[in-house]
Amino acid sequence: MPADTAPVRVLRRPAARDTLSRRGGRTAPWVLMYHSVGACADDPYLVTVSPDRLERQLTWLNRRGLTGVGVAELLRARADGRGNRLVGLTFDDGYADFVEHAVPLLLRYGHSATVFVLPGRLGGDNEWDELGPRKTLLTEEGIRAAAAAGMEIGSHGLVHQDLTQTADGVLAGEVRGSRDRLQEITGKAPAGFCYPYGKVDARVVNAVAAAGYGYGCAVAAGPLTGTHALPRAYVGERDTDARLDLKRLRHLLRRRPLPFDSGHAALPYAREAAPGAGGRAPGRPAAGSPVPPEPRSEQDGR
Ligand SMILES: [Zn+2]
Repeated sequence: MPADTAPVRVLRRPAARDTLSRRGGRTAPWVLMYHSVGACADDPYLVTVSPDRLERQLTWLNRRGLTGVGVAELLRARADGRGNRLVGLTFDDGYADFVEHAVPLLLRYGHSATVFVLPGRLGGDNEWDELGPRKTLLTEEGIRAAAAAGMEIGSHGLVHQDLTQTADGVLAGEVRGSRDRLQEITGKAPAGFCYPYGKVDARVVNAVAAAGYGYGCAVAAGPLTGTHALPRAYVGERDTDARLDLKRLRHLLRRRPLPFDSGHAALPYAREAAPGAGGRAPGRPAAGSPVPPEPRSEQDGR
């Protein structure tokens, strides 16, 4: 039989989504980083998504068969082998708009999240962002309302400072003091800590682990990457469905498994790992990547 008349054998190929899911089981957890949800006309640090955009992003998760959860739940599920379709959702700084705009949308579409709050600035504002605009932070009541809605409450320190530049006593106050304060407010010690500005070094990561936190959220933690320095992906107002698809693909292709995916066995972190911890090595897009490199503020967090 001539070759060109031979029957064509059609090979059944698994759907792309299933292929990605299997890869997903071997990668670091995918954790998305949000900050504020509200009007974005004046947003010099690109920390705001509009409620409309957040709603589209949550429905994108639903269409992909993914469920957003808080990071503690994500890590528990992965430890039990059931985390494949889960994505960590995090909201830094504890803006009051989290309860106003994000929580209703999360609940409507069947997701939950971790909100990292600042118990040293209850009801205050983001005065650390020099250019503004000023955004109100959650009060004690707001934090309790978020917890009552099923959201995980994590610590972002007390007042939002770069912990790599603090004296030991200040570091202890930010890490332990915020944990104690959140336990007073919610009745439960927080499981997670989020490093202000995404800034980490070995001293800071060790302090967070030693204070009893089960995990820490960074942005790009370089050689410190692990359960106490989890990488996260920035999500902003420009992230359409297509960009989210690309970001997810980039994560699945580039992120290696965490060196320490659960538990504290590898602590303390080696002090020599500190230099370059703010680097971008694990997640930097290749030249020509269809997803543009993230702006500086997105790499560092706020
Ligand atoms: Zn922050």
